[in-house]
Amino acid sequence: MQNYDVIVLGAGINGCGIAEKLAQSGKQVLLLDKEGVGQGTSSKSSRLIHGGLRYLETGQIHLVYEALHDRQRLIAKYPDLVQSRRFILPIYKSSPRPAWMIRIGLWMYDLLSGSRKVGHSKTEDISVFKSNFPAFIEDGLKSVLSYVDAKTHDRELTRRVADDFQKLGGTVIVHCKIESINSDDEHFELHSSAGDFSTPILVNATGPWLNEVNAKFDLPARFQIRKVSGIHLIFDGLIVPELMFMQTKEKRIFFIIPEPENDQTLIGTTEREEDCDMDDLHAQESDIQYLLDQVNAYLKPDHQFQRKDVRDIYIGVRPLVRRKGDVTDVSREYKLDLHTKGNTKLLHIFGGKLTTYLSLAENVADVLKIKN
Ligand SMILES: Cc1cc2nc3c(=O)[nH]c(=O)nc-3n(C[C@H](O)[C@H](O)[C@H](O)COP(=O)(O)OP(=O)(O)OC[C@H]3O[C@@H](n4cnc5c(N)ncnc54)[C@H](O)[C@@H]3O)c2cc1C
Repeated sequence: MQNYDVIVLGAGINGCGIAEKLAQSGKQVLLLDKEGVGQGTSSKSSRLIHGGLRYLETGQIHLVYEALHDRQRLIAKYPDLVQSRRFILPIYKSSPRPAWMIRIGLWMYDLLSGSRKVGHSKTEDISVFKSNFPAFIEDGLKSVLSYVDAKTHDRELTRRVADDFQKLGGTVIVHCKIESINSDDEHFELHSSAGDFSTPILVNATGPWLNEVNAKFDLPARFQIRKVSGIHLIFDGLIVPELMFMQTKEKRIFFIIPEPENDQTLIGTTEREEDCDMDDLHAQESDIQYLLDQVNAYLKPDHQFQRKDVRDIYIGVRPLVRRKGDVTDVSREYKLDLHTKGNTKLLHIFGGKLTTYLSLAENVADVLKIKN
């Protein structure tokens, strides 16, 4: 039996960030994953490090504020992996939110960024938009706004955090199947395909797999994960010169994300409530068509995309959180769910975006009373 101060289950961005933070405090930490580092949701995102402009509309001010703070820290910490980018928002006569409403949102976004601002939002010159985005329809174009957020590569970022954790002396074991978890008042004992481990502190950061892990190992929890999947379509080449924030007629949004480093463009995402097992998940043809329809609604007839133009598709599941038994209580904010028994602590991480992993990890250290 190998003993650790803390064992973290799940090497997504949250598990890696927590492991790094606790190792910085001198703890011996073991990070376990059933697959590889960053192979879950943390490699299936929109790859944005952002405050989340659309969360202002639902009043999730604290989430936006925290994310904007973390955005700035990540740009400074990993300048080669997290960089600021301008987003273009074309507004048409048919857009569900008029320009004045979006301008108020952008003004609030700039305000919440405070001194952490990476660039101002502004009104763009329509004629410049028309010449730089020739595939876009011009009929009904009312105005073009822009703002600045940041872009990353999610899996690379997660791997970098795991590398930094290992540089601090932390241990990562991947492709590790947990067979059982037993506990008494002093320890958790984990029996796995990679050996037997014991710890007084177990952190469950298995993201969208959390419900399944808790059911399998009979772990107590106050919340549940609501699994909401999202897909991205990948196209060859750069469809647009800058990132775009687009509105659908139904008031939803989607992004067009050119990646010059890969010579490809991502378009996403969708939202679908999932009730299947995480490992049985696959992209639905209707979601693929939905995204094609949304982007085509903005394109001139000879620039429209067909199903055969889609080079690849990936699907991820947002680990949204809801209180047990309450289907309406869903938020993008994360919850830290602590269970103490004797000298043991079990902490579940419900929710948490890529962008906010630094704050989340600091809050975990506080909740576990582990100080630097
Ligand atoms: C479509 C989509 C777009 C998104 N876009 C953005 C964005 O642009 N910006 C942003 O900030 N956030 C975004 N998010 C949210 C963000 O990607 C996730 O919230 C975040 O990656 C979750 O990380 P995690 O570490 O909690 O979970 P995961 O990355 O899913 O990690 C959980 C890990 O647990 C492991 N695991 C599962 N079961 C076990 C077990 N029994 N034993 C050991 N290990 C186990 C899995 O293999 C996995 O590696 C997006 C999410 C989706 C779905």
